[in-house]
Formats: sequence, C-alpha cells, structure tokens
Amino acid sequence: MAYDQNNVFAKILRGEIPCDKIYEDDFALAFNDINAQAPVHVLVIPKADYVSMADFSANASADLLAGFFRAVGETARILGLEGDGYRLIANTGSNAHQEVPHLHFHILSGKKLGPMLSR
Ligand code: AMP
Repeated sequence: MAYDQNNVFAKILRGEIPCDKIYEDDFALAFNDINAQAPVHVLVIPKADYVSMADFSANASADLLAGFFRAVGETARILGLEGDGYRLIANTGSNAHQEVPHLHFHILSGKKLGPMLSR
C-alpha cells in the first residue's frame, strides 16, 4: 500500500493539526490518543512515511528502527509505567482493524487490562 500523505498522523507530524504531546525525538513522536480506551492511551509514531509494521520492518533503516523502538520504551518510562506494566499494540492491516495508515504503537495502561483480546 502506498503511503497517504493526507492521513491524520502525517498532518500531525507536519504540524497541520495539534496533538497532546508526551515525548518527541529525532525518530518518533508520542501523543495522547484522542479516543482513549484506557486511563493511559498514548500513540507512538515514527517520523517517517511508513504505512504499517509490515512496511516499517521491511523498509526502514537500522537507525530508524532502533530509534523508534527506543522512543516507545522511553515514552513508557516517562509515563511511569514500568512498575505496573503496560500493553503495546500495533494494528497492521484490515484483520487488525488498522484505521490510520501510518505506523503507530498504542501504549495502554493505568488499570488492569485483562486478557489480550475481546472475544
Ligand atoms: P488504529 O485502529 O490502530 O489505526 O488506531 C488509530 C488510533 O488513532 C485510534 O485509537 C484513534 O482514536 C486515534 N486517533 C485518530 N485521530 C487522532 C488524532 N487526531 N489525535 C490522536 N489520536 C487520534
């Protein structure tokens, strides 16, 4: 799938729409999800044009891969989640109900999240 420059996260990265920023570095931006599904619900996105985990893992540079995953961990640390734990989710493609076609990791926490999938 080709990258869509008009997706909402591309607009956030270009500063065209605001976000509630938690963390930012050269590789990634982390911000609160606009429709939180848990007391803590933060999205971490790479600062580059990758549609999904499939695209990113196949095509991103080693520096960006490392920098992005470091930023995911750093964001969780900043949020103070290491003690009680958190869940990472990266929906990829239609089976996973990916809505925004720019790779993003959800960080979910702030309560006991229960089993991984609703049935
Ligand atoms: P996914 O279904 O994995 O693609 O998740 C997309 C997420 O992006 C959803 O949890 C939305 O609530 C979130 N979202 C959509 N637009 C915005 C926005 N402008 N700011 C923050 N989060 C957003």
